[in-house]
Amino acid sequence: MSGADYLARLNPEQRAAVEAVDGPLLVLAGAGTGKTRVLTTRFAHILLQGKAYPSQVLAVTFTNKAAREMRERVAAILGQPAEGLWLGTFHALAARMLRRHAEQVGLNSNFTILDADDQMRLLKQVMDAARIDTKRWPANGLMAVIQRWKDRGLEPNAVTPAEDSDYAGGRATELYVAYQDRLKALNAADFGDLLLHVVTLLRANADILADYHRRFRYILVDEYQDTNLVQYYWLRLLAQGHRNICCVGDDDQSIYSWRGAEIENILRFEKDFPGATIVRLESNYRSTRPILAAASGLIAHNTGRLGKTLRAGRNDADGDKVRIVSMWDSVEEARMVGERIEAARRAGTSLSEIAILVRAGFLNRSFEERLIAIGVPYRIVGGARFYERAEIRDAMAYFRVVAQPADDLAFERIVNLPKRGLGDTAMASMHAIARAESIPLAMAAARALETGAIKNARARAALSELMQGFDRWRAILPVQGHVVMAQTLLDESGYTAMWQQDKSPEAPGRLENLKELVSAMADYESLAAFLEHVALVMENDEAAEGERVSLMTLHGAKGLEFDMVFLPGWEEGVFPSRRSVDEAGDKGLEEERRLAYVGITRARRVAVISHAANRMVYGNWQSQLPSRFLDELPASDVQREGAAQQARPQGSVFAGGGMFAQRPRRMIEAAAWEVKERPAAASVFIVGERVFHQKFGYGRVLAVEEDRLDIAFEKAGEKRLLDRFVEKS
Ligand code: ATP
Ligand code: MG
Repeated sequence: MSGADYLARLNPEQRAAVEAVDGPLLVLAGAGTGKTRVLTTRFAHILLQGKAYPSQVLAVTFTNKAAREMRERVAAILGQPAEGLWLGTFHALAARMLRRHAEQVGLNSNFTILDADDQMRLLKQVMDAARIDTKRWPANGLMAVIQRWKDRGLEPNAVTPAEDSDYAGGRATELYVAYQDRLKALNAADFGDLLLHVVTLLRANADILADYHRRFRYILVDEYQDTNLVQYYWLRLLAQGHRNICCVGDDDQSIYSWRGAEIENILRFEKDFPGATIVRLESNYRSTRPILAAASGLIAHNTGRLGKTLRAGRNDADGDKVRIVSMWDSVEEARMVGERIEAARRAGTSLSEIAILVRAGFLNRSFEERLIAIGVPYRIVGGARFYERAEIRDAMAYFRVVAQPADDLAFERIVNLPKRGLGDTAMASMHAIARAESIPLAMAAARALETGAIKNARARAALSELMQGFDRWRAILPVQGHVVMAQTLLDESGYTAMWQQDKSPEAPGRLENLKELVSAMADYESLAAFLEHVALVMENDEAAEGERVSLMTLHGAKGLEFDMVFLPGWEEGVFPSRRSVDEAGDKGLEEERRLAYVGITRARRVAVISHAANRMVYGNWQSQLPSRFLDELPASDVQREGAAQQARPQGSVFAGGGMFAQRPRRMIEAAAWEVKERPAAASVFIVGERVFHQKFGYGRVLAVEEDRLDIAFEKAGEKRLLDRFVEKS
């Protein structure tokens, strides 16, 4: 773009914010008002005005995705690839800075960054050495305490009595000291250390700080409302030089308090940078008027906001109302979303302009399966596809061994997971037997126990317990079915406990995924049918490049926008999430509401919010109440569809007689997505069932989809038929 054309793409307020390049500036404005556009344009303006070289601008974004987008936007305006930029997330930038001065904090520049697993292991070692009873004081508790201190910029010697914790009888600071020493001995840093160390070294070394003051003439910060204290200190130190710092943010979109984000940083800005210019932007260029009105109406229920005006600034501002769709159950919800996506695609909407935003990752599963079933390509942003997640693969490995004891790969994956003392030596003995006798590993394990080939008593006991476990779990199958088997196995094997004890931030999500896995199994007639299904799903891989629907969590969607946004699972306990409300009360609820606000404001043209009256949780149908947020949306800007009832006529899949007396529910083909009443008795065919057809004779059902059955006939081969043409045999 030549000359100052790029400025013409801004409204007067935005333009003022871009052109006021010198001095501190805070842009405080609602969603979609062009804050990020201001920031990227400002970046380009600084360069084009010759105010600084690209490497003299420090630009902080919140996600890698946002960083990439910013790099592209700057490159587009410059007309050439933008290289050598100090542009990235807080973590990435801090790591880069720390590598340059690692020795100042007692590390080498090639230090390793520990992940949560390593961090926990190290903490446990430190606690053992200090003879702390980790049963009474789980290591995860210590991890949280230390994390909080790091988020607040506190080195061990800076923890004041007021900030101290009563963890382990007041020994937390002592453990913190020991942990930091261990990290240094290992030449390692955890994530919290990255910024903490940088702040410490900048405070202690005036010359290094001065160097950065010379280097960074301009500082740009996006999503400022989500910075924590240590991030804030870092910015303030760096900005003391030129005072050319521009932060953009929206207090209504602050959604990371659980990671130490402090909204007060916005208020502090004016104090620390007296004379700062505050710019407010009020025109939203992203969404249609009803979407904005719905989001604004919702967020108005929060107290303690800074308050802002937001009005539609698009030319085609009027549009469809926000849909609230009530569904019978989560299966139909996924179907409804799938149908609307197909319809939008037919009408010419690009799949990359469609997103499904969920409160928690486990909710993705039903949408993934639905999209696979109807052949719509999708990508999971910021996470793995459901069946590719480590915890799901682990659990599946257990199930595979139950179904198929000769599955060596699966056996090997879980034999020492959780750790049960079956290390390399024990494995080597089993492998030797397996090879010598040409038998599967699981059989070799049994043989090793008989013959005493495994010398270590602890390993022997552990292996024997595991093998007995498999016998027991296998025996559950024919009696109580695969869902009970799965629940029992996950508990008795210690696998669930392993994640319960893990207090890394990912652990609760993993536990939710495991529950979701068990729920998914209940949809299948047998363990074999389920394993088969997963094998097929896994095969259905990311083949083609090209347009895809995005699936992600609401947290991951911050700063992004799509033409069409689906917001499923608006049910009490799911969204607002029970955990947040239990742990943080009204504050937690308000943060959930901000998250809802973030979600709705991602949509340009179409927002579809849905809730299901019934959701399968850990193999049981639970009836769900609609989210209170639904009632907080202004009635004039929403349109309600669907009429789900609140009670299931069938009850739980565990109801009555045999566990699986009730076959998996069939979905009725409701016209489009309008929920009609579910007929009391759904159709009655299940996978694996023997059927008879007038013309083709006897066969077995391979797959059931709606009213269509795939059947392998004994004589006539495979056919796809409508279910009313066959009968049970
Ligand atoms: P969020 O709070 O969600 O991060 P934001 O304030 O950063 O939103 P942007 O993403 O910068 O908003 O802008 C929202 C949309 O509006 C983008 O598609 C952007 O290109 C467009 N936009 C911003 N300013 C203008 C303008 N002056 N004229 C037309 N479109 C604009
Ligand atoms: Mg933005």
